[in-house]
Amino acid sequence: MFEVKETDLAGRIGRLRTKGGTLETPALLPVIHPYRQEVEAGLVKELGFEAVMTNAYLAYKHYGPELLEKGIHKAIGFDGVVMTDSGGYQVLEYGDIDITPEEVVRIEEGMGSDLAVLLDRPTGLTRDRAEAEWTVSETIGLAKRSLKVIRRRDIVWVAPVQGGVFEDLVKLSAREALDLGFEMLALGSPTEVMESYRFDMLVRMVMAAKSVSPFGPFHLFGAGHPLTIPLAVAMGCDTFDSASYILYAKDGRYMTDWGTVRLEELNYLPCSCPVCSKGLEELMEMDEEERVRNLAIHNLYVLKKEVEATKEALSEGRLWEYLMLKARAHPRLYQAVKLLSDYVDMLEDGTPSFKPRALFFFDELDYGRPEVVRHRRRLNWMRKREKLILALGTGERPFYGSKVHREILKALGDRAGEFQISFILPPFGVVPVEVSDVYPLSQNEAPEGYLEETAKLLIPSIREYVESGGFSKVLVLDTGSGGEFLSAISSALKAELVDLKGLAQA
Ligand SMILES: [Zn+2]
Repeated sequence: MFEVKETDLAGRIGRLRTKGGTLETPALLPVIHPYRQEVEAGLVKELGFEAVMTNAYLAYKHYGPELLEKGIHKAIGFDGVVMTDSGGYQVLEYGDIDITPEEVVRIEEGMGSDLAVLLDRPTGLTRDRAEAEWTVSETIGLAKRSLKVIRRRDIVWVAPVQGGVFEDLVKLSAREALDLGFEMLALGSPTEVMESYRFDMLVRMVMAAKSVSPFGPFHLFGAGHPLTIPLAVAMGCDTFDSASYILYAKDGRYMTDWGTVRLEELNYLPCSCPVCSKGLEELMEMDEEERVRNLAIHNLYVLKKEVEATKEALSEGRLWEYLMLKARAHPRLYQAVKLLSDYVDMLEDGTPSFKPRALFFFDELDYGRPEVVRHRRRLNWMRKREKLILALGTGERPFYGSKVHREILKALGDRAGEFQISFILPPFGVVPVEVSDVYPLSQNEAPEGYLEETAKLLIPSIREYVESGGFSKVLVLDTGSGGEFLSAISSALKAELVDLKGLAQA
């Protein structure tokens, strides 16, 4: 059903097979109203969206039993992949709705959904643990009831995961859904989390669910903001639905790559889609209905571009760099991205050991990058010699071919075999000369002054290397540059600071 083609961080490019067609993921599914469409479903398809999300409950309520003959694709006018939500969200919005899980399954089977979400009980953003526990056990109970009446196996059944901000409940909810045999999970992300830019909460919730379900296809509800798309993809969300394009449009909000701006606050249109090509003046002069439609179309263009840009970055192995760039768009996003290093094990699994390009480093966030953490872990497996010489890494790579290395060998003469020669390279930490050509230790670039700016982050990993190595002697080589940093290192390690001449006598 789901095949992964490429990975980077916890993100993946995959193929999700459904009866309505194979969907390449990550994919954003615009939410289509079952009968009141400001942007008609056919146009959404033309704009490049292969799949949409609509509401089974609202569709059935409107079309009645006739819908089961017609099918959902015809009813909404979309001939791609159609995912249907059960209406659980309406419970949260409008209080109880009069539908049972068995009816939802019957309706979704009847209307021929390609991906169908079971009825659930959304947790929302409640801080009341007892209430959250109740929604999770209700959701599990509803999934069990649904499972009993499922007949159509050609539909991809999607089990909702609830639990809200309680990570253990999210894990429990996900585990129960997998135990019931559902392969695809969908995390309910409270709208409030998105609206209040609590991206850190989003990271914790998604990673909690993904820690239980790292392999199967994973849907995230309501992540249609240009800022959340790269983050959601990096965490391993394969599909996400969003009504944001139309909700923002109705609110007069214009999406940009970095957020949204109120239309009347715009002086220029930073976009070259067909809507924006008409110009700001024309857009402002439109009547309300037409403007909403045009804004929504523009918003869809922006979302489509964001999904494509994220996929391209993933495919090139620079999803991390792309995410770091996006992180600068909003302090809350920056905070959330920083939090990702708490989940480095999960991110490392999908990060290739070799990439056909150099890694770019900019600042301290890169210390938590999976490739960097991976190097530090590998260090512990390497054979170490009796004594250690630490030298500053230079621009000459790999280090074994560098001038400094030749000079060290010359100074040591016959005693070279006793010494482990290692170089200090931010953000990796220590790089033993023997492995300095292993990717990405020679394939990376950082701005000038990077060492000085991030030195305090570098020292603990150097100390760890030295302490675990059990060296009988540790020398820090002073070659004339990085004086202040080298003194700090030698005093942190209680090691002797020597120059090349001193090395010859050491
Ligand atoms: Zn535009």
